[in-house]
Amino acid sequence: MKTNLLDFNLAQLTEHFAAMGEKTFRAKQVMHWMHQMGEDDFDAMTDIAKALRAKLLASAEVRVPSLMAAQEASDGTRKWLLDVGTGNGVETVFIPEDDRGTLCVSSQVGCALECKFCSTGRQGFNRNLSTAEIIGQLWWANKAMGVTPKNERVISNVVMMGMGEPLANFDNVVSALQIMLDDHAYGLSRRRVTLSTSGLVPQIDRLAAACPVALAVSLHAPNDAIRDEIVPINKKYPLSELMAACRRYLEFAPRDFITFEYVMLDGVNDRPEHARQLLQLVRDVPCKFNLIPFNPFPNSGYGRSSNNAIRAFREILQDAGRVVTVRKTRGDDIDAACGQLAGQVQDKTRRQEKWIRIAESGSE
Ligand code: SAH
Ligand code: SF4
Repeated sequence: MKTNLLDFNLAQLTEHFAAMGEKTFRAKQVMHWMHQMGEDDFDAMTDIAKALRAKLLASAEVRVPSLMAAQEASDGTRKWLLDVGTGNGVETVFIPEDDRGTLCVSSQVGCALECKFCSTGRQGFNRNLSTAEIIGQLWWANKAMGVTPKNERVISNVVMMGMGEPLANFDNVVSALQIMLDDHAYGLSRRRVTLSTSGLVPQIDRLAAACPVALAVSLHAPNDAIRDEIVPINKKYPLSELMAACRRYLEFAPRDFITFEYVMLDGVNDRPEHARQLLQLVRDVPCKFNLIPFNPFPNSGYGRSSNNAIRAFREILQDAGRVVTVRKTRGDDIDAACGQLAGQVQDKTRRQEKWIRIAESGSE
């Protein structure tokens, strides 16, 4: 099998070229072609010597996951389904806003952590994505929206909030993050790349050392009893340990706060006393809250909190001086909201009708 150069960050590609007896600056050139120009054909890399191109053609490739389908919602949200060879796809979502464009990237096919309210978790775990499959999502999105000169990129922010637990696929995710940040590739600011985790404590410390990007933690509960129930990894890494890990991370983080995500589940974690308990829990952690109205899926067994409950919850946190955002649901008509990125595994019928088959549309 040929080596997939899309799997390498700059350090790894440099090493690979050195092992081939090639000069190290070639790695930078090839990174530029692959990631900034969206090029997957060595013959089109015109400033690379012909002899080297021939060598690369024989031993290597730029293998991006193939695109199975693409969709666009009426609000401009876009979604791509990439073939990762498991019979189902992984999804990537682009969310345009006035001042930024955010790409929501997946890290695994399925997820082993089984959070009760999450449709990815309900699927179970299939496998980790390779670095090429993770960065391939950015590659495709850039390509689909037109590769523009640097600094005019449509994608200004990346959130690792698609399918999977990114810290459970640590090495591949870190390499992909390094490519996102690299000036020879996507050149994104550390502050604009956010990794969301359900709270794998040892890996939070490892991330601080390896590649500190902005951190979001899926808290979802104000105490261990509720969190044990809805985020089962809490039994292994309870809240006291998670809060301590957040404080340690802040010494390395590019931002001076942690974002706590909190899915609003009707009657489960959305009462005023839960908000007060939450304030106590995070009293020593500089943080912002992102309240996420629960996105229902078939047989979830949960309901979305009422707008009144969400408003009251938010006000308690705000009155205590905390910054709170309530996540807007975007891309409703293409099932692109959080927790709905279930690929095509279970719900094949309804979803498939809505996908625009690439073959039919002929675009992209
Ligand atoms: N595994 C990581 C990142 C992916 S999930 C994590 O858990 O943080 C991204 C966010 O969507 C998480 O906060 C997750 O808890 C939330 N989420 C999952 N299912 C949801 C649903 N049905 N409705 C709303 N948010 C959901
Ligand atoms: Fe996995 Fe995150 Fe879903 Fe939990 S919420 S099952 S960690 S993807």
